[in-house]
Amino acid sequence: MICGESMPTFNTLADFPPERFSITAYCDACGHSQEVDIAKLPNDLPIPVFRANARCTECGAKGASLTIGYTASMDASCMIGKG
Ligand SMILES: [Zn+2]
Repeated sequence: MICGESMPTFNTLADFPPERFSITAYCDACGHSQEVDIAKLPNDLPIPVFRANARCTECGAKGASLTIGYTASMDASCMIGKG
């Protein structure tokens, strides 16, 4: 819950600036988890496309589940998105 504003669920990586969010990918096939380096990915990459194309470094399978964590303090900002 972020200030009652509905959080954009699956838009693009631009909605999850790395200074405020961390994304962990879990391989659908083997369960291997790895933190995603958001800063190295294109901002306009749609989350569903990223999920579908993520490749596991352990088993090489394509497709991952993502866990998105909010790393900044709730007091620091109530704004989600650009601006
Ligand atoms: Zn795997």
